[in-house]
Amino acid sequence: MLFGGIEAGGTKFVCAVGNENEEIISKLSIPTTTPEDTFRQVYEFFDQYTLAAMGIGSFGPICINEKFDNYGYITTTPKKGWSNIDFLHKVKNHYNIPVYWTTDVNAAAHGELKRGAAIGKSSCLYITIGTGVGAGAVINDEFLEGIHHPEMGHINLKLHPDDTYDGNCIYHSDCFEGLASGPAIENRLDKKSQSLSPRDPFWEIEAYYIAQAIMNYTLVLSPEIVVLGGGVMHQKHLFPMIRKSLKDQLANYVELPNMEEYVVGCDLKDQSGIIGCLLLAEKELRRNLSL
Ligand code: ADP
Ligand code: ZN
Repeated sequence: MLFGGIEAGGTKFVCAVGNENEEIISKLSIPTTTPEDTFRQVYEFFDQYTLAAMGIGSFGPICINEKFDNYGYITTTPKKGWSNIDFLHKVKNHYNIPVYWTTDVNAAAHGELKRGAAIGKSSCLYITIGTGVGAGAVINDEFLEGIHHPEMGHINLKLHPDDTYDGNCIYHSDCFEGLASGPAIENRLDKKSQSLSPRDPFWEIEAYYIAQAIMNYTLVLSPEIVVLGGGVMHQKHLFPMIRKSLKDQLANYVELPNMEEYVVGCDLKDQSGIIGCLLLAEKELRRNLSL
């Protein structure tokens, strides 16, 4: 039995086919150009297989609430040409199979929870710090979703006393994403974030923002573990800095596991999202069979 997964990002779509033993048998990365061109290539890839179900983790914002007419759409994305695109039905109508539809970060959270760093837990928060900042939460094995999916990358943060940057979020300027994403770092320092030395004093500021956000999520959601991914988190020296800053900011107010166990990196590397999508495809098939 074969499952399909699409991890849809603003830069690329990662498409994969996996079998019931969770082996990925084929994978293709497609650049995100126009919806027409991108979906043509998506179909071309998956048309080679007979799939039992699919799982999609998409960039957003997307509509995940079935009560709305635009359920299944990418809604108000600033990505040119991609707002108001009925993603889910482009896939569902073409293949006529069960399709699980969620955000890219939820899919990654699911992947890490079931097969990665959060294995054995029933709740987990996955945060990506990359081109954007976003997070997905699983609480008691369910995604945290309400009227919409959460937009945890856009929370307000207290400014670090040494930070004079105004922020680059096109909606809120100095929200979490506006202060701490890869492009925010590069715009603030006028250098590639990859090229900063691990000893650069800026990393204290970055760690402070990430820790402050984790503190807020911890106080609101109480996850069992926080998994950090995305390009910026390739800077491994950030982990001990974030843990220390989180400990300082929390000031022992909540009892948590030791920080090395509470704030961790991805186990599935850059595969958390696509593995999550494949697992969600299987979950959706099981749900449909039990209906
Ligand atoms: P995306 O968010 O587009 O899926 P990534 O998670 O790889 O992709 O994030 C890309 C961003 O992360 C870029 O803005 C880049 O500045 C930053 N980045 C990528 N690799 C590194 C690195 N090794 N160190 C610091 N920043 C990085
Ligand atoms: Zn914002």
